[in-house]
Amino acid sequence: MNFSIESKLPNLGTTIFTKMSKLAQEYNAINLSQGFPDFPPNQKLLEFVKQGLDENHNQYAPLAGLISLRKTLAEKLFKSYGSRYSAEEEITITTGATQAIFTAISAFIRKDDEVIVFKPAYDCYEPTIELYGGKPILIEMKAPTYKIDWQEVSAKITSKTKMIVINTPHNPSGTVLAKEDLLQLQQLVENTNILILSDEVYEHLIYDGKEHQSVARFPKLAERSLITYSFGKTFHVTGWKVGYCVAPEELMKEFRKVHQYNVFCVNHPMQWALNEYLQKPEHYLELSAFYQERRDYFLQQIKNSRLELIPAQGTYFQTASYKNITTEKDTDFALKLIKEKGLATIPVSVFNKNQKDEFMLRFCFAKKKETLAKAAAIINSL
Ligand code: PMP
Ligand code: GLN
Repeated sequence: MNFSIESKLPNLGTTIFTKMSKLAQEYNAINLSQGFPDFPPNQKLLEFVKQGLDENHNQYAPLAGLISLRKTLAEKLFKSYGSRYSAEEEITITTGATQAIFTAISAFIRKDDEVIVFKPAYDCYEPTIELYGGKPILIEMKAPTYKIDWQEVSAKITSKTKMIVINTPHNPSGTVLAKEDLLQLQQLVENTNILILSDEVYEHLIYDGKEHQSVARFPKLAERSLITYSFGKTFHVTGWKVGYCVAPEELMKEFRKVHQYNVFCVNHPMQWALNEYLQKPEHYLELSAFYQERRDYFLQQIKNSRLELIPAQGTYFQTASYKNITTEKDTDFALKLIKEKGLATIPVSVFNKNQKDEFMLRFCFAKKKETLAKAAAIINSL
């Protein structure tokens, strides 16, 4: 190479999900690492896709997404959280939540802006903030309860704080924010210009009768929030990469300025099919019961193992401490589990501040019972 490049993200490697899924394949291991179901989506949804293709919904969709789908989502948001969003101005269909998050950050974050991120955190927030010159301000939540210390948040807010990123139900910990957490947040940002990016991709995966505390339920938070959602999680189609962003008109205007040039518009036949499928709310309302049964099955299968755990409150991830088995680094232990025992998991330290090791692994239970039973047999042998 006769020229030099200066990386904008010099310290960034490949995501842990790609690494672990690749290793799982290489070692033919049971894959409870990357979060995706190993069972197919509902046949009805697939039939709608075929219909969408046959009826020739095959050209560009509108920039913000199919208006029929956005109207359905506006209605769903009202029914779920009592909040009114305009289908025309305040909802945009995106290429998964990843693009919604990227676009939201890039539309608002400038050089030297501070963005508060709670650690452990899903891995796409910080690189995106850094790409636009922003500074992630990291606040730790500690295993195994992963609670937010709001006093610490208050202490970390400065005149440079531009945005706070929250994620509930939370990946990787499987915990959820309570109403009191959102009220604390609301109080902290009142009379500031701080924006909230609320990643709610697991809104319908919440257990034991808990209610999802969307920022959309809190008008004073909603007025300054961009919320991201993913059909991949809700309808077992992570490979489709279709999601959406919801925000008040003034914020959405800025979001769309970026959206129109980083994607312009999203896969048309999939949007058409999703709108048809969404006409029956039970398709998403039954999700919590569906995954709670899987969580309970998995926990029942490993109840005599040496793992220590608190049942996941939401998401399809169960975290557990393995410190009764070994005090090896979680990244080493996870590698050993793949190579020697045939089980792929995610070491939680990769999401932690300074990769702090708390001897925790994350297991994805969005799997067939037979897969979970095979994984449990390995876990019980440790
Ligand atoms: N946020 C969180 C917390 C996630 O776990 C994921 C992963 N699926 C995403 C965002 C990205 O969602 P999508 O696959 O729709 O891009
Ligand atoms: N959200 C998924 C997880 O946490 C992975 C998404 C990805 O591979 N980027 O496992």
